[in-house]
Amino acid sequence: MSAADVLSETRVFDIVVVGGGLVGAATAIGAARLGYRVAVLDPTGCQAKKSGPLGSDVKSFDLRVSALTRASQRLLDSLGCWEPVVPFIQHYVQMDVWDAEGSGRIHFSASEVFEDDLGCIVENSRVLSSLYSELVHTDNIEVIPASLESLQVNGSVSIVAEGHHITASLLIGADGALSRTRQLLSLPTREWDYGQEAIVATIQTEQSHESVARQRFLQSGPLALLPLHDREGSDKYCSIVWSVDQERCRELYDLDDDSFKEQLAQASEWVLGKVVNIGPRAKFPLIQRHAKHYIASNSLLVGDAAHTIHPLAGQGVNLGFQDVRVLLEELERAKSRRLKPGETEVLKRYQRRRQPENLAMMAAMESFKRGFTSTNPVVSWLRNEGMNRVNALLPVKKAIIRQAMGL
Ligand SMILES: Cc1cc2nc3c(=O)[nH]c(=O)nc-3n(C[C@H](O)[C@H](O)[C@H](O)COP(=O)(O)OP(=O)(O)OC[C@H]3O[C@@H](n4cnc5c(N)ncnc54)[C@H](O)[C@@H]3O)c2cc1C
Repeated sequence: MSAADVLSETRVFDIVVVGGGLVGAATAIGAARLGYRVAVLDPTGCQAKKSGPLGSDVKSFDLRVSALTRASQRLLDSLGCWEPVVPFIQHYVQMDVWDAEGSGRIHFSASEVFEDDLGCIVENSRVLSSLYSELVHTDNIEVIPASLESLQVNGSVSIVAEGHHITASLLIGADGALSRTRQLLSLPTREWDYGQEAIVATIQTEQSHESVARQRFLQSGPLALLPLHDREGSDKYCSIVWSVDQERCRELYDLDDDSFKEQLAQASEWVLGKVVNIGPRAKFPLIQRHAKHYIASNSLLVGDAAHTIHPLAGQGVNLGFQDVRVLLEELERAKSRRLKPGETEVLKRYQRRRQPENLAMMAAMESFKRGFTSTNPVVSWLRNEGMNRVNALLPVKKAIIRQAMGL
């Protein structure tokens, strides 16, 4: 078939999801389960990488991991995608947060809220793999290995993607932070560059992490140590997310492994002893971005396409999965009322339910970020006092834990 022939063939779906990342893939499976005919567009073709056994050294873990809340686990479970992930998760039962510039410390424990754990850490590739296996086996879904190029809205959405021509009642932009969908729909964003980058890597430490997630707030930015275990069950592995300003990031990034390990152990106050081994490093620019509107005619945004947030609280994909949960509820409601998925009422209800919640979380993270990087001695004193007081107030701590767990 020539390119012209492909272009002339218009395929009709109820919903087209642009982007088959964690959020887009979950959206597509959920929408198809409701009986919608769904197309997923992603240049990668949503091919599941072979999901072998857990890592056996620092080089064999996926560099990208996520702390998933209970609410995210429930969503994945409802889509039939959680069980295959379970053998690869590391629960964390406590969380220790402390200030490098004083004595402030908060310690959260699952037992304080009568839960078995506070959440879990998992490599992103394990979750994607499970979602993609489900995508392939779900009727009503077609994966199209192409990038969105252009779109037109006229009572429905018509899109062109590398020779594919698709129309649908609803277009869902799940194409990440630099969303082409958002640009083509001219949806404005409010954004600010933190001037920081996050260095991520897998490390092996001298001491066991004992299923505790740790975060030390340095003036240059937070350092998170997220617990992992290897296939033998050794709990001396962590994924690090070290947020630092760009100049410091360049310095750290250019260090050889031994010097980096030394700097890292120092920045973590040797809380797990020496850093014994380190895998490859990667860095990600940190930009907070929020779309002023999540919806346009017959279109909406989910996940990082709608909002990106500082990784300090590990909430990015968790917020995205909550977008999915709410959107699926609204699509189910639309179906029962015989509304088309792209009808304005459906879109407005979705935006009304998600935007305030996402904004509140982003504002909270922003104030955390500012509070912890301030060099003002009054702010520093207040911060340390505040942490210690919250630590002593069990009802407040319980409320924070339940919020962070998405309960
Ligand atoms: C260092 C770091 C640590 C983090 N840690 C956590 C954590 O602990 N917990 C947490 O909840 N979140 C965390 N996050 C955030 C989390 O990784 C993101 O929120 C999440 O990956 C977003 O998923 P998404 O599916 O919305 O977008 P993405 O993962 O960016 O997926 C977008 C998809 O769209 C596709 N695409 C792009 N352009 C097009 C196009 N034109 N046409 C078709 N397809 C397209 C891409 O191929 C990709 O598959 C972290 C982020 C960073 C940077």
